[in-house]
Amino acid sequence: MKIDQFPADIRPYLLPEPRGEMIYRCIDCKKEFDIDRLLYTCPDCGSVLLLYSKNMEYTSHISGKKWRKIFDYRRMLNHRALKGIFRYYEFIAPVIPLDQIIYLGEGHTPLVEANARLKEKIGLNFYFKNDGLNPSASFKDRGMACALSYINHLAKKENIGDLLAICASTGDTSASAALYASYLENFLKSAVLLPEGKVTPQQLSQPLGSGARVLEMPGGFDDCMKVVESLAENYHVALLNSKNSWRILGQESFSFEIAQDFDYEVGDKVILVPIGNAGNITALMSGFLKFFRAGLINQLPKIVGVQSEHADPVYKYYLEENPEKRGFVPVTVRSSVAQAAMIGNPVSMPRVIELVKEYNRAAENNKIFVVQVSEQEIMDAMIIANRNGHIACTQGGESFAGLQKALDAGYIRPDEVGVLDSTAHILKFAVFQDMYFNDSFDPEFNIKPKSELKNTPIQLRPENLTKYPAAGNPLSGEDLQNFLREMAAEIAKILGLKKKWH
Ligand SMILES: *Cc1c(COP(=O)(O)O)cnc(C)c1O
Ligand SMILES: [Zn+2]
Repeated sequence: MKIDQFPADIRPYLLPEPRGEMIYRCIDCKKEFDIDRLLYTCPDCGSVLLLYSKNMEYTSHISGKKWRKIFDYRRMLNHRALKGIFRYYEFIAPVIPLDQIIYLGEGHTPLVEANARLKEKIGLNFYFKNDGLNPSASFKDRGMACALSYINHLAKKENIGDLLAICASTGDTSASAALYASYLENFLKSAVLLPEGKVTPQQLSQPLGSGARVLEMPGGFDDCMKVVESLAENYHVALLNSKNSWRILGQESFSFEIAQDFDYEVGDKVILVPIGNAGNITALMSGFLKFFRAGLINQLPKIVGVQSEHADPVYKYYLEENPEKRGFVPVTVRSSVAQAAMIGNPVSMPRVIELVKEYNRAAENNKIFVVQVSEQEIMDAMIIANRNGHIACTQGGESFAGLQKALDAGYIRPDEVGVLDSTAHILKFAVFQDMYFNDSFDPEFNIKPKSELKNTPIQLRPENLTKYPAAGNPLSGEDLQNFLREMAAEIAKILGLKKKWH
């Protein structure tokens, strides 16, 4: 819709201008730092940072009701920069001029309601939010769109002509970083550091296709992370891991979209999300808190973090009921089908610890839970979801398995509504589906396929058929007739088809 056709009271708010002032604030010592440089950790105490809007009066003189109206109308506006996560511009990064925003089609992923069969099986109503439908096929694009838009803005402002962006990755961060960096190739080059053999072939091909320098090293993700941190400390590089708090801001859009898609009624919702480096759950909490404080939503939803038994440091931390006695201990991970979440020492843990307290305080209730699921449960859940019309990856399966766990544990009631984060597209993780169907998992996964969920192709070789068509060598005449008849008969036999009576 054209701008002059919107209601007069909304028109002035539709195209926002940079007016906010943002700062980095240390999670630990609370010191604040200017955003004129790229900071990843507190220069004073070394802890992680989060970004805050400073002059909140810019947003707080607008009522929650008015914000809802602004965002609902902005949905109808055709403006490239506001098509993706920046529909919520004022709540994400209101310092970036619209013409410097990078938009590659991220955000506003579909919320797909589970069919009657699945709802009945689980015993409550729920949805999948398909973040695998982002441009690089995972939710990482939300954060990357924000980080790269800011870097684009900063580079223009500071006249930076040449910058290298780097990240460590379990596969999806690198795919996303490389994609967005390739779009900005005039001044930005990207390099990604991967744990050798621990990303899927699809995830490896993505940054290669985007033209990034791809570096593989022995060890796991946690080791790669330490190496890029050391690089960011000692060299001129832009770090694109979720330690970079611009990424967290972009990922908050996931919660804004859920709020808007449910007409801002989220008090009865439960969001389930896999936890790896814990950037995503950080953004979920922070996003909902922002909408709550600005009055767009009147209640906070529950959030359930899900971890595999093979990589469960956050689950273990919250096992201790007494907050005074809790202490974070990194774990050594074992192989997991939820490979994108196979992290023993999550970078965002200090953010999680702070935000969980803030969230529960604001909700005046315990609204954040962490559950643990087995590798078997993750795989079974993923396969079942996808046999019912979904496109869940292994981490989406983890969310689904977590729904059942949270229900069994009494964290969720059957009258609440689940929203499962399917963080990536199944096609990125098809190797795990293949292992399930072929019963070829390494013993360390401890996964046995359920026979009723297995599916493998059937090779057609009718007994009486000797001649087959080949490349450049088609069949004809009697041979062709024979081939068609025998193949059709064989297929009819396998599928149990009934013959037509002419
Ligand atoms: C990165 C990733 C995760 C883990 O998210 P964190 O923010 O690291 O907790 C889960 N699923 C997929 C598909 C991912 O790419
Ligand atoms: Zn500090």
